[in-house]
Amino acid sequence: MLITYKVEIKPTNFQKWQLNRHIGGSRWAYNLFLEMNKLRYEDGYHYMSAYEFSKWFNHDYLAANQKDDWVKELYAKSTKQAFIDADIAMKRFFKHLSAYPHFRSWKREQGSFYFVKNGKAQIIPVERHRIKLPKLGWVRLKEYGYLPTDAEHFLIKQGRVKCHAGRYYLTCLIEQADVVHPELTGVSIGIDLGIKEFAVLSNRQIYSNHNKTHRVKRLRRQLRRLQRKHARQYLAFKARKQKEGKSATDLNLAKTKRRVQRLYQRLQNMQKDYQNKIIANVVTTKPRWVALEDLNVKGMLKNRHLAKAISYQGFYNFRIRLIAKCQQLRIPVHLTNRFEPTSKLCHHCSTKKVDLKLSDRTYRCPVCGLVEDRDMNAALNIKDTKNFELAY
Ligand SMILES: [Zn+2]
Repeated sequence: MLITYKVEIKPTNFQKWQLNRHIGGSRWAYNLFLEMNKLRYEDGYHYMSAYEFSKWFNHDYLAANQKDDWVKELYAKSTKQAFIDADIAMKRFFKHLSAYPHFRSWKREQGSFYFVKNGKAQIIPVERHRIKLPKLGWVRLKEYGYLPTDAEHFLIKQGRVKCHAGRYYLTCLIEQADVVHPELTGVSIGIDLGIKEFAVLSNRQIYSNHNKTHRVKRLRRQLRRLQRKHARQYLAFKARKQKEGKSATDLNLAKTKRRVQRLYQRLQNMQKDYQNKIIANVVTTKPRWVALEDLNVKGMLKNRHLAKAISYQGFYNFRIRLIAKCQQLRIPVHLTNRFEPTSKLCHHCSTKKVDLKLSDRTYRCPVCGLVEDRDMNAALNIKDTKNFELAY
């Protein structure tokens, strides 16, 4: 099976320069593909696919445009992959699967350095602390021993390097033996996601909302302050530019922007780590199935009073990662229908309590006298409902 690994790398200054050149080159190639095909369409010519475009690019375009000779110094496979990416985006558009592709932008840190295993005999060498990439040579890894070094059982097929907030990340696709699927002997688990607690599990485990911790609150405050500073500096920069009539790059503005990006990234990483720990705890019990509510996040965000708190929770990413992990281990995931009254039903006798208010934290059943925490009752209902769809 194919598994993706992601790891941060520590390129030297020269390697950083090389990587930036390749990332910029791939952006340029992607945009050229879109541009040329747009012009061709307007002039009534047929659409050129990546293969055809690449041939035309190497034979005709580069011969006619001497100024773009710098592209020849780049790793050719990386440039070609940009054509393929653009081709895929266009074809998705033709099939009405997505909107018309945007140009790749420097501001959004798009573009990537792409590398691939050439032919059958070649391998991409990896050691505990470094990986050998085409054009760049040995590049140091930040996490030792994470990428598998045993080339006989773990074969790197291809990969990319991307830059985000001044750091470089390598993702690679590795062919390896199938993960052994565990026998699912544990109790099934229903998960109720919320704002008061992040997750309440039907096996009585409760994961608190980490956005309420002192640490996260402090970082968010710092981030807000820094964003205000960035906005202020930007306005001052714009005013100065108009007055002097020339475009100077403001180093301090760039520095603040990078700090904002880093801090934001740190918060994201903390959230991801917390959620991954919850997922790991869920799957290690080998549940027979995992049940989740099919949350209507978009609809919930329309509620002005809760929008911020909900968007901070990252429910969507949590769900995607949980489903992916369960799929890997072949644990079925039940998505409970959105309109199932999971909090209003009594888990014990299935009476529907219509007058349950949002503020009632405890569920008291008027028929059988069950007293249960509101979220726990919902988690149990989510686990046992028959009204669900399979996630994959
Ligand atoms: Zn009851």
